[in-house]
Amino acid sequence: MVKEKTCSVEGCSELGVRSFARAKVTEALQSASLSLKSSRARRAHLCAEHYKIYKKQTRKEKRVNKWRYGT
Ligand SMILES: [Zn+2]
Repeated sequence: MVKEKTCSVEGCSELGVRSFARAKVTEALQSASLSLKSSRARRAHLCAEHYKIYKKQTRKEKRVNKWRYGT
C-alpha cells in the first residue's frame, strides 16, 4: 500500500511536510475554517503552508486556555 504523503487539508494537493494526530489537526484547523479530507488514517499530513496555519491556531488556543484557567 502506498502511503499518502500529500497534505490532508481539503482542496490542497501540496506535499505534506509534517504529520500530526488527526483529531488535533481537525480541531485546530476548524477555527481557521479549514477541514481535512476524509480518511481513515490516524494522522494528518500538512504542507508547509497549512503547517504554519496549524501552528498559529494551536498557539492561539493555548493562549486562550491560559486565560481561561488563569495559570
Ligand atoms: Zn496544504
